[in-house]
Amino acid sequence: DAAQQPGRLQLYQQGRDAAQQRQIRLIRDLRHAAAQGQLLLHYQPKLDIREGLVRQAEALLRWQHPQLGMVSPGEFIPLAEHTGSIQLLSAWVIEEAMRQLQEWDGRGVWVQLSLNISTTDLLDAELPGRVGALLARYRVAPEQLIFEITESGVMLDPERALQVLHGLRGYGIGLSVDDFGTGYSSLAQLKRMPVQELKIDQSFIRELDDHSEDSVIVRSTIEMSHSLGLKVVAEGVELASGLDLLQRWHCDTAQGYLISRPLAAEAFEAWLAQPYRS
Ligand code: C2E
Ligand code: CA
Ligand code: CA
Ligand code: CA
Repeated sequence: DAAQQPGRLQLYQQGRDAAQQRQIRLIRDLRHAAAQGQLLLHYQPKLDIREGLVRQAEALLRWQHPQLGMVSPGEFIPLAEHTGSIQLLSAWVIEEAMRQLQEWDGRGVWVQLSLNISTTDLLDAELPGRVGALLARYRVAPEQLIFEITESGVMLDPERALQVLHGLRGYGIGLSVDDFGTGYSSLAQLKRMPVQELKIDQSFIRELDDHSEDSVIVRSTIEMSHSLGLKVVAEGVELASGLDLLQRWHCDTAQGYLISRPLAAEAFEAWLAQPYRS
């Protein structure tokens, strides 16, 4: 009977309430996710385009919530950044990556891992020292780690962030600029940062063809990066035709579903053992 049916406004409010309740729950549960063993890393291969080889991967955080199932980092990372639990997550990611590298090293598997570092971490003057201690504890070579940072993270407090970056660099950790092209990308800023790699955001790469505006941006970004002495990674490579263009334009590294989706540790190790065919 019509009187019992919720109206459109009520449905809207119910939907909004449910979304808010989910957020509140995620924020609360995030604080214990690491301690309760609900976090894991997936690894997405990065293809060396010239060599046709994979010896690098990006570690991507996954949260297996006991009731809600797999929650995407696109949903929980922003919540963690706004509520202060990001540092707990980052600490877990950094240590887990080192533990995994040590385990692989024991089996003769050599990989270089990229980790995502948040804005908050960049303002933490004690981060480099903690990372240095972990490198020693897990006997990981610093060349096996790259920290991916965003320019907006550096912009927040450039002096402090640059100090942290130089500290990390001092331990021999590699640095990469993530999501390039999406924020306030400034060449002046890039020149000041002790980075060795730049990742072109997937929004420019996914539907890459020879004529689009994207192709102009991508080609000039590759040229500019090379003249600054930076390696270039294209992320979100989904099409073989896109990979062909990137190869022709001398892009160094490709990452995307075309090569592989992010994989759990065991699956990634098995994948690595197979020769790569493009
Ligand atoms: P990101 O750093 O830009 O990572 C790339 C994202 O694109 C990943 O999503 C990856 O799975 C996805 N991707 C890779 N190749 C393709 C492709 O060919 N097509 C499409 N459509 N997508 C592709 P994911 O794993 O959901 O992560 C989303 C974002 O969450 C990341 O974006 C990063 O900003 C953040 N994130 C993930 N792990 C961590 C972490 O450990 N710490 C921090 N602070 N942030 C993280
Ligand atoms: Ca990234
Ligand atoms: Ca991105
Ligand atoms: Ca990102």
